[in-house]
Amino acid sequence: MKTLPKQCDILKIEEKWQKRWEQMGIYHFDDKDQKRPAYVINTPPPYPSGDFHMGNVLNWTYFDIVARYKRMRGYNVFFPQGWDCHGLPTEVETEKHYGIKKTDMPPDKFRKLCEQFVEKYIGIMRTAVKRLGCSIDWTTEYKTMNPDYWRRTQLSFILLYKKGFIYRGTHPVNWCPRCETAIADAEVEHEARGGLLHFIRFPLDHEGYLTIATTRPELLPACVTVAVNPNDDRYRPYVGKTINVPIAERKVVIVADEVVDPEFGTGVVMVCTYGDKADVKSVAKHRLPVIMCIDEKGRMNQNTGKYAGMTATEAKKALAAELKKAGLLEKMEPLQQEVGVCSRCKTPIEILDREQWFMETRKLTDDVVKNAWDITWYPDHMRTRLIDWAKSLDWDWVISRQRIFATPIPIWYCTSCGTQVLAEPDWLPIDPRIQPPRIESCPKCGAREFTPEKNVFDTWFDSSISCAVHAGWPDKKNWRRLFPADVHPSGVDIIRTWAYYLMVRHLALFNEKPYKSCLINGMSLGSDGRKMSKSLGNYVATPEVFGKYGADAARQWAASGGATGSDIPFRWADVEYGRRFLRKLWNAARFGSQHLKDYRLTEEVRLELLDRWLLSKLAHVVQKATSALEVCQFNLAAEEIRNFAWHTFCDSYIEAIKHRLYRPEIYGESKRKAAQHTLYLTICRLLQLLAPITPHVAEEIYQTLYAEDKRHSSIHVSSWPVPDEKTMDEESEKYGDLVIAVIEEIRRDKAERKKPLNTPIKDVTIFASTDKNARNLDLAQESITGTCKIDTIKILAQKGSGKEVRDYPNIRFVAEY
Ligand SMILES: [Zn+2]
Ligand SMILES: [Zn+2]
Repeated sequence: MKTLPKQCDILKIEEKWQKRWEQMGIYHFDDKDQKRPAYVINTPPPYPSGDFHMGNVLNWTYFDIVARYKRMRGYNVFFPQGWDCHGLPTEVETEKHYGIKKTDMPPDKFRKLCEQFVEKYIGIMRTAVKRLGCSIDWTTEYKTMNPDYWRRTQLSFILLYKKGFIYRGTHPVNWCPRCETAIADAEVEHEARGGLLHFIRFPLDHEGYLTIATTRPELLPACVTVAVNPNDDRYRPYVGKTINVPIAERKVVIVADEVVDPEFGTGVVMVCTYGDKADVKSVAKHRLPVIMCIDEKGRMNQNTGKYAGMTATEAKKALAAELKKAGLLEKMEPLQQEVGVCSRCKTPIEILDREQWFMETRKLTDDVVKNAWDITWYPDHMRTRLIDWAKSLDWDWVISRQRIFATPIPIWYCTSCGTQVLAEPDWLPIDPRIQPPRIESCPKCGAREFTPEKNVFDTWFDSSISCAVHAGWPDKKNWRRLFPADVHPSGVDIIRTWAYYLMVRHLALFNEKPYKSCLINGMSLGSDGRKMSKSLGNYVATPEVFGKYGADAARQWAASGGATGSDIPFRWADVEYGRRFLRKLWNAARFGSQHLKDYRLTEEVRLELLDRWLLSKLAHVVQKATSALEVCQFNLAAEEIRNFAWHTFCDSYIEAIKHRLYRPEIYGESKRKAAQHTLYLTICRLLQLLAPITPHVAEEIYQTLYAEDKRHSSIHVSSWPVPDEKTMDEESEKYGDLVIAVIEEIRRDKAERKKPLNTPIKDVTIFASTDKNARNLDLAQESITGTCKIDTIKILAQKGSGKEVRDYPNIRFVAEY
């Protein structure tokens, strides 16, 4: 056995092993190996923002603990990594950087410019994932922007189209006027914003008026009815009467609708197409006409007359002024309200009627609910998030977007008759904006000209087939061997997007759920408990953490910071504690390496009480850590292992065997061997238990101490320890605890008397209070005298006076120096 050096340069050790693991290829999924069961992780392909933040550290640490644990449990682990490349932020950045508009050039040219940014950011993030020490199989790396991935996304579309899950239609959609694209419900966030409630008089036909309250007077030109609650006595006589919409110069019929809240404003509201989702429902319910008055850029259109071209905000002011002039604006009151905003840019969304492509997801809701119950959730209560979301959806998933940098929709339209020409699977990948369909003429009318579909797919349409793609679909014959994935890890914030879309896509395509279990992580918060963000000044960059304390310390923060699924604040103190723990472990292992030079595992030994005590406790730790990791309770596993290592092993056991190791001439060779045996086994097991959490330091110590004895090239391919039931021994644990308590109390006594710990004590009398205590303390007498440097000791079965042993109020002792 080699001696561990005194200095532990964690950063160097981490760098060394990250390189070596890759050279060794130990994280490759072995496709040929049919013996070991496969274990598949549906690693999320992150959006390459170029920023690998502490939230990512939290996620990836979870995945990697699972991967390393399962590998040691004998699974053939498939741990892939991809990048979800498409998206608006890259388009915006490219436009800014080159000072261009995306429409200035052909789409493929613009794509190329976007790809350069994405490649750069992937490079930064890949380095960070590696720096965290993730055991990813990098031969699996993929990018959703590559034509080979397009092919899969486009094929999945063609299959869903043929199965009747896809339709094109004019339907109200959420629209971001800044991003100029339709967005899905899942991309709409709700924020509290301040607004002004305008009280506007709508003249009745003969005399009088009703006052309606609205925060959006700019939508007056699109007002199609006025609604009141049928149970509101104030307004019941007006239902069915006509009323005049000011400015718009339009008569509308007043309707009764129980969704109108009589307490809001005046109890009279206007329905515009469209102010919000409630308007969409009212239009369908009362069969009202649709008058769009806002365009894709969020400006008023020609239907608003002289307001055309104004922004909504400008129009709001102008209309309010005109209403005031006409004496129709009673008052304005500030109002706090929930506003739907674009999740990417926080611009309030509009609802526009647009021709879009949809996936008919709502018909799968019962299936989603059924499968949500089939899946194991970590933690269990997260299941309802998926179920509630699926049930809450009013609209199908709008899968088309009005952008460039995305997977094209493989479809053309006959210029004469409008027939849709869907690409054939063997045409893929294809960009209809550049390539014509591979047919001579329209199958319906024989015309020879086609117009390409210019819209592209929502980015989620790319990534939501990842489970099948990881498994090798559609190329590998036996792709179902790796499908469904064993675990789908997901942030709590993307259950409604990623977990949901994965579910509906795979159910629709393959009639099977995409994952068997779902591992949820919470958000990482700043140390002030708020969401970590650069603008709040509570942001901590990962290079700072890795550079100061190393990945193994950061991983301990992620593993132990809180229960799985809960939000976890970043605390430097936790990372520092992780670093101190590694130093403590290192010193204990170094001590072991110095004392195990002449030890061979084959030697027969007779264990002492404290040896049996430690091995029994170790067996219980193995058992508890294993049970915790089986159900992804990383914090419980980490605490169990670290407490045992730090307190039971380093502080108590090692101190209590030093005399045996240093002075065999006094205490006997066989007692030294027993201590060596216990040290050897315990350090080895401990390193294995720690390997998923602190992979680098565990590997370095393992290789230094055990490489000669073990057949494994790395601790990460060694077998996960099984709790050794033979060593579980309640009696030894009970009396070992007592012996350790007595030793610690005597050492505390020395400290209180301000004497160095190695000060000899002339005489100690222990009042053990019972025969059994006395007998067991007597059996461990040498451990007490040896550790505390006591010349003579008397252990009496009776009660007596003296210093009380903590947690054992009947046991006292007297020490004479
Ligand atoms: Zn937006
Ligand atoms: Zn045609």
